[in-house]
Amino acid sequence: MSASGAPRQKRCCGAEQAQVSAQRSQLKSAIPAVAAPLAHHPTSERLAGYALGDCSPGTALLVARHVAQCAKCAETILRWGSSPPSAWVPPAAKAWRTVSPGFEMSPVREVSGLGELVFMVRAAAGARMPGAVAGRIDEFVVLSGGILQGGQVAGAGDFWLPASHPQGELVACKKAGLEGLFTTSDEAWEHEG
Ligand SMILES: [Zn+2]
Repeated sequence: MSASGAPRQKRCCGAEQAQVSAQRSQLKSAIPAVAAPLAHHPTSERLAGYALGDCSPGTALLVARHVAQCAKCAETILRWGSSPPSAWVPPAAKAWRTVSPGFEMSPVREVSGLGELVFMVRAAAGARMPGAVAGRIDEFVVLSGGILQGGQVAGAGDFWLPASHPQGELVACKKAGLEGLFTTSDEAWEHEG
């Protein structure tokens, strides 16, 4: 490795330039560094709700997970004057139960509220959730592994709406399986399993 690279060019020392570069470095430190841009983002309504603190706790938890990994959405939130989360820690999973063969879920009590339940979910590689079950999930964020549904793929960090593919079964990544978080307004899930 050569340490004697070309000297850095300083084209301008004006105050305006300094301000711009300060803003840039502020943006850079606030926006997560990611290897590849994510494919599936929260709707702008959800993102705005999150930025304004005007969404349910479950949706906020899922959107925060996405934004912590998505430079595009983090930048949008910054433009709106809000801040992306500096770190995101998954909630603790306690009692796992089977939701459909190969899929297990665990309630996240801390954020589940009136009209909204939040679950951690994990699935074996290649496990298949029938479309009728997946259609009961309102919002999903992939923590690891991936989803194949309706001919589309969602990977870690992606924000996915399973109910938008009501006829499509949801398949966990055939190599890495799936870990994620989802919200549902279907209160029957409180007691099933
Ligand atoms: Zn995004």
